Amino acid sequence: MSVDFRVRDFAYPTRILRLRRFFERSQWLPLEELVSYQNKRLREVVRQAYWHVPYYRRIFDSRRLKPEDIRDIRDLEKLPFLRREDVRTNLSDLRADNAALFRPGPASTSGTTGTPLQFLVDKPSNILEFAYYWRHWSWAGYRLGDRFADVRYDYFVRRADTTDDVWAYQPHLRRLLLNSMRIAPDRIAEYAKALRKFRPRFIRARPVSLYCLALFLRERKLNGIQFQAAFTGGETVLPQHRQIIESTFGCRVLDSYGHMERCIAVSQCPHGGYHVNPEYGIIEVVDTKSTPEGTMVGRLIGTSLHKMAMPFLRYEVDDLIEMYTDGRRCPCGRTLPLVKAVYGRKRDVILTPDGRRIPSLFNVFHYAPGIRFFQIVQEDVSRLVVRIVRGKDYTFHSEESLNFWLRRFIGDGMKIDVEYISENDLVRDHTGRPQPVVSRVSIW
Ligand SMILES: [Zn+2]
Repeated sequence: MSVDFRVRDFAYPTRILRLRRFFERSQWLPLEELVSYQNKRLREVVRQAYWHVPYYRRIFDSRRLKPEDIRDIRDLEKLPFLRREDVRTNLSDLRADNAALFRPGPASTSGTTGTPLQFLVDKPSNILEFAYYWRHWSWAGYRLGDRFADVRYDYFVRRADTTDDVWAYQPHLRRLLLNSMRIAPDRIAEYAKALRKFRPRFIRARPVSLYCLALFLRERKLNGIQFQAAFTGGETVLPQHRQIIESTFGCRVLDSYGHMERCIAVSQCPHGGYHVNPEYGIIEVVDTKSTPEGTMVGRLIGTSLHKMAMPFLRYEVDDLIEMYTDGRRCPCGRTLPLVKAVYGRKRDVILTPDGRRIPSLFNVFHYAPGIRFFQIVQEDVSRLVVRIVRGKDYTFHSEESLNFWLRRFIGDGMKIDVEYISENDLVRDHTGRPQPVVSRVSIW
C-alpha cells in the first residue's frame, strides 16, 4: 500500500478535488472516452520525457523518434521496456531537468523481487494517489472525514518509546493507528479496547495482519467489532483469510493492487470485481499465455500518466495479471476494465516465538543502503537467517543499521544470523526470481 494520509496532502485541495470529481464521473464513461483521456495524458508525459529527461531524450534520438511519434497507446511499442535495472543504473538521467516544478521527493521499494529500488515521486502523482484511493474507498461508502483504523508499523518503530505501543490516535486525520508488529494472542485485548473506544468505520491493513487480528479476536471471544469495509493491499488475500476477516468484522474486504512506482492501480469493488484504473496509468500485457480456464495470463507493463519529475514509460512491473477473454462486465456497472487477478505479491510472513506473524519484514532493508539482493530464511521459529548480496555502497554502517532494525522489528526472542552470499546462492522460485522470504515453518 503506497498511500499515506498526511497533512501536507491537503495542501493542494483544489487539484485533488478537481481530479476526484473527474474520477467520480470517469468510472462510468464509455471505454473510448477513457482511452482518449489516456492518450491525452500520454502525449503530455511523452513531451515531458523528451524535452526534459536525458534518459528518454537519448532513447528517442537513438530511435529517431520525436514526441509526435507517440500519439496513442499503440505507439508505445516504438519504445523499449524500462527495467528495474535501467532505473537503478540511470537514476540521475531519469530525473527531469525541471523536476523542481513538480516538488519531487525520494521513494523506494523492495518490491516482491528482493532488490531495493530508489526513484522519485512528485506532487502530481501524490494528488493522483489521493484521488484514486478516495474513489476506491467511496465505493464502500467512505466520506472524507470518516474515522478509520490503519494497521501499520512505521509510525511505531520510528521511536524507541512507541515501538511496543499497540495504538495511537491522530484526531486531525480521524485515524486510529494500530501497530501491525504487536498483534499477538496475549495483546489482542488491547487492540479490542482501542477499537471499541474509537469505533472506526473502516479499517485498512495488509491481509495477513487483518487475518491475525480477526483470528485472535475470535479466539479470545472479543466479539462485536464491526466495520463498514476492510481495505487490503500489498499482498494477495488468501480466500480462507478473506472468509475469516469478512465474517469476524461483518463487512466486505475490498482489495487493491498498486505500487510506489505509480504506473498501475487495480481495485476491487463491492461486487468482488477487480477493476483496472485506466485514468491512473496504462497497462500493457506481454508474453500472454492461455490458461485451462479460458483466461489469459501475462506480464504487466505499466506507463505512468501523472508522474512528471521522473516519468516511467513501459515499466516492467514484474508481476503477472490474469484477464478474462469473454469481454465480461462487472455487475456494478462501472466501465473500468475487469481483470481476474494480479499475481506476484508474495505472502512474506515471519513467525516469532511469541506468536506474532510479521509480514513484509523486507521493509527493514530500506534502512541499510547498498544491498543488492536480500533473502530472509526461516528454518524454525527460533532462528532467522538474513542473507545479503552486497553492493558497492554496502558499509559497516549498513550492517549496523540492519542489525538494529531487524531487532526492532523482531524483538529479542529470536536468534538472527546475517550471512553474506553471492547472487548464485540465492534461493529462487520456479520462474528464476529470487524469493525475498523463504519460510520452512508453518505460519498457520
Ligand atoms: Zn465492479
